[in-house]
Amino acid sequence: MRASLLSKLGVAYLLFLLAALAVAGFSSKPALRQDALLVAFALVATGLALWLGFWKRFSRRVAGLKESARRLATADFRPAPADRSGDDLAELRDAMNDAASGLAARIGALTQARDRWTAILRGMVEGIAVVDAGERVAFCNETFSEVVGMTAARVEGRPILEVIRQPEILELVRRGLAGEEGLRGELEVAGARRRVFGVTISPVPGSAEEIAGPQSARPIGAVAVLHEITELRRLEQVRKDFVANVSHELKTPLTSIQGFSETLLGGALEDRVNSRRFVEIIRDHALRLSRITDDLLKLSRIEAGRLEPEFQTVFAKELIERAIEAARPRAEAKRLALRSAGAPESLRLRGDSNLLREVLDNLLANAIQYTPEGGRIEVSAAEDQGYGVISVSDTGIGIPEAEQERIFERFYRVDAARSRELGSTGLGLSIARHLVEAHGGRIVVKSAVGEGSRFSFSIPLDR
Ligand code: ADP
Repeated sequence: MRASLLSKLGVAYLLFLLAALAVAGFSSKPALRQDALLVAFALVATGLALWLGFWKRFSRRVAGLKESARRLATADFRPAPADRSGDDLAELRDAMNDAASGLAARIGALTQARDRWTAILRGMVEGIAVVDAGERVAFCNETFSEVVGMTAARVEGRPILEVIRQPEILELVRRGLAGEEGLRGELEVAGARRRVFGVTISPVPGSAEEIAGPQSARPIGAVAVLHEITELRRLEQVRKDFVANVSHELKTPLTSIQGFSETLLGGALEDRVNSRRFVEIIRDHALRLSRITDDLLKLSRIEAGRLEPEFQTVFAKELIERAIEAARPRAEAKRLALRSAGAPESLRLRGDSNLLREVLDNLLANAIQYTPEGGRIEVSAAEDQGYGVISVSDTGIGIPEAEQERIFERFYRVDAARSRELGSTGLGLSIARHLVEAHGGRIVVKSAVGEGSRFSFSIPLDR
């Protein structure tokens, strides 16, 4: 029933009651007074009954609204029971239902956004951890947990002190929690492979002061972001080592050239016996310098990606025979038996014949160099799973297991002093590996100290 109609009925009821009471009190006719009294009683009784009924319904509706308000507080957004009375309480119910559906939509959108952000954070390649004001990890993604060697479930909730044990990083986290911005550091993680991470730490601001009071201006946590820089550090080290190595390699021949030319100028020129020997030494060192610079230029060309193999059909057998013929005089001078151990006539490789020849020449030169007199060197070729594999075996000094991978690094030599004496640059295998990889193949070594070595490289077949 509408509120205005109710109030009109109420006024009419009161007027009736007053009229009945007036007649009952002031009428001169006793019979009329009695009737009026009866009517007044009847009116009061009806009024009381109506009021009781109304009050019961009113308190039931208020209880319903209270229940809905309680449900709202627990994020239960079901609407309050229908109410068609159209009075103020019904309007309050409608307003509460509107607020509930508004809140439900808002919370739904926020939950969706939160889930999206969580998915993004969890999938990021950077490691991310949020540390709360109590210095515990409130959130971390998988990359972070993988870096610290635990599962995300084990990291979350733990004190950061137990997760990262590097004091400098913990200090940065504390400074971040105190509100300092732009904090950077480096985290080193030991393990099967040493890894280095750049760490950035920023405070997580609390709610605005005007909303949540002066305490809230302090950060409620700090975010740590880890990005891997292992490769960057490795390359920096490689570059430093390279500069040091090049300087070292160039210094020896340059010092000798300088020393012997000064000796000559200082009077040895007149010494007919020694002057020729000195000039020969100068020439040998100059040749070594030129070999090093040639190799370095070749390497830098390859590494800069400026080497483009001219792919053609290369017959493995022919390649091997030519390389053996070219190496034979040096092998014979050392009384080494050098032979081809067979290559299928039909074995055709897809490659640049000059570059493949360079790889083979290098392996043969090494085999001759590191095999003592009287030894044997064999070259063979075979097909293996879409590749042609060429192998050079020798009965030479062999390579210790721990160094077998390292000999492909620039300037790496097993016995540096001796190899240098033999005129080697330590760049040959590094160049060979680049050349083979430029063809889409691989080069490997098997070796035993004192027994010999077998270098094999694979090149895709020409079909
Ligand atoms: P180098 O110019 O010194 O030969 P390489 O890169 O070709 O440079 O070889 C690197 C090192 O690998 C050599 O110094 C040598 O110690 C080792 N090595 C290469 N080939 C052989 C081999 N056939 N037998 C034994 N050691 C070898």
